[in-house]
Amino acid sequence: MLLTNHVLSGALIGALARRPAPAFAAGVASHFVLDAIPHWGDWSSQRQFLRVAVPDGVVSLAVMGVLTAAAPPGRRAAVLAGMAGAALPDADKPANIFFGWSPFPAAVDRFHARIQDESFQRAPVELAAASLFATAALAAIRRARRHPPRPAPPAAPGATRRARRGRLTTGS
Ligand SMILES: [Zn+2]
Repeated sequence: MLLTNHVLSGALIGALARRPAPAFAAGVASHFVLDAIPHWGDWSSQRQFLRVAVPDGVVSLAVMGVLTAAAPPGRRAAVLAGMAGAALPDADKPANIFFGWSPFPAAVDRFHARIQDESFQRAPVELAAASLFATAALAAIRRARRHPPRPAPPAAPGATRRARRGRLTTGS
């Protein structure tokens, strides 16, 4: 799928997952799920691929910037981690073009290539996915902004005194 769609779904995952590590892991997994769904591709040439991939990369970076900024501070790291995880498996594309190699093990690349179900007629699938993921990601981020995590309740005075006493005894 287009990188933009991976990034948008990664933002949605991050906004729902709340914590960065699970958001990153679920983001990576989501990449392979989306790539297995019939999508746009099967380019006739490298030139045709780049005519889509370059703007797609630029839009993806812009989306990452905007959604990271839009996320509330408590959810920002998770949203960024979800997007980074969802985008990561496609790092082989620029690496192959610029350096001629993939950063991933050959088995991962083989799996990634095998699951693709691409057709050049499926641009509408990408557009539909983009509007769906953008709407859902924005809704999840807006919801997170309205419901920030509750601050931890202040410690009871007794607990503070005990903690202070503990610190004094262990510190000496
Ligand atoms: Zn991919």
